[in-house]
Amino acid sequence: MYTDFQQHLEKELAAITEAGLYKNERIIVSPQGAEVTLDSGQTVLNFCANNYLGLSNNPQLVESAKAALDSHGYGMSSVRFICGTTDIHRELEKKIAEFFGTEDTILYAACFDANGGVFEPLLTKEDAIISDSLNHASIIDGVRLCKAARYRFKTADMEDLEQQLIKAQEQRFRLIVTDAVFSMDGHVAPLDKIVELANKYNAMVMIDECHSAGVVGETGRGVTELYDMLGQVEIITGTLGKAFGGAIGGFTTGKKEIIDILRQRSRPYLFSNSIPPLIAAAGIEMINMMNASNGLMDKLRSNIAHFNAGMQAAGFDMKPTQSAICAVMLYDAKLSQEFAARLLDEGIYVIGFYFPVVPREQARIRVQLSAAHEPEHLDKAIAAFTKVGKELGVIE
Ligand SMILES: *Cc1c(COP(=O)(O)O)cnc(C)c1O
Repeated sequence: MYTDFQQHLEKELAAITEAGLYKNERIIVSPQGAEVTLDSGQTVLNFCANNYLGLSNNPQLVESAKAALDSHGYGMSSVRFICGTTDIHRELEKKIAEFFGTEDTILYAACFDANGGVFEPLLTKEDAIISDSLNHASIIDGVRLCKAARYRFKTADMEDLEQQLIKAQEQRFRLIVTDAVFSMDGHVAPLDKIVELANKYNAMVMIDECHSAGVVGETGRGVTELYDMLGQVEIITGTLGKAFGGAIGGFTTGKKEIIDILRQRSRPYLFSNSIPPLIAAAGIEMINMMNASNGLMDKLRSNIAHFNAGMQAAGFDMKPTQSAICAVMLYDAKLSQEFAARLLDEGIYVIGFYFPVVPREQARIRVQLSAAHEPEHLDKAIAAFTKVGKELGVIE
């Protein structure tokens, strides 16, 4: 039996390789940070991690995780509702709710699980989900697991959203769902207008703050802070795996009845292990740090401004960004790969993206900035981009 299947897989793999889509993983042998060492021995500046606040190797978080290893042990060996909840799991849930101005929070092993487990327990075939066309894969999968009718609107296009809401008026309940920051472009969902339409057409709103929590809004509370709408959407999902420490873990925060139903019925919560206590403890410490000071946010913002100004001055075509994601537009797929490879030779680690990850003829290099970057790191990156850009005829 396996021989046939093996040949089938070999063909599939060959096709992936031929299409240039085979993903090779680069091995890092140092902690995650602004500067990382690869297994080749090369040290490079890292501009492709979601380490927005530079917390992935923050000494305070490492210390709090170590202390929790001593006080609460290594693992929980259980799901939450059997014997997998500690005092610090609950404390982190309350802290997250306080941070976003919501009523309660439920933790998951990852935001992929939070999004995968949010729709099916809440909505049935009588209801409607209206989803942005660029939403994250985990939202798409979560919607697939739910029997509600599905509507899709063009990304951040409010006229199209309105059309879909009109179509969905026959259903009992309506939920609009959108990423807060879109990961390939860096643009922010127009939450003010979305909520306005939701009110007009009697819909609820869910936003995924994975790329915006810790990044967007004066104090990093995400798009609800940016639009001065803290506590005004029904459901927020987010991750502890990006700005919020970078380890692992996800959450859904929002109206308390919603969170309560999820605790009763959300399958990735009911049937999957609790996050380790050390992650909960470091999560609490991370929120305390953010409440105590805006320093990391301020540094990230000044890095974003510095990098974008430098790249524009050098003549690069930058997508306007409202986040720590900067898309350097190259349009041509092959050029994006060649450009990224040459940048690595210059000690700059970035990734070039092309179809199907981004639309055809929209290939780009995505640069992700961090509070861990120093101004000299940014200047080195801009200089390398400029050198390679001239060599490849992208800029003059
Ligand atoms: C990264 C990401 C996720 C998944 O988060 P994990 O905690 O890594 O599973 C979900 N949604 C969006 C928009 C993301 O960017």
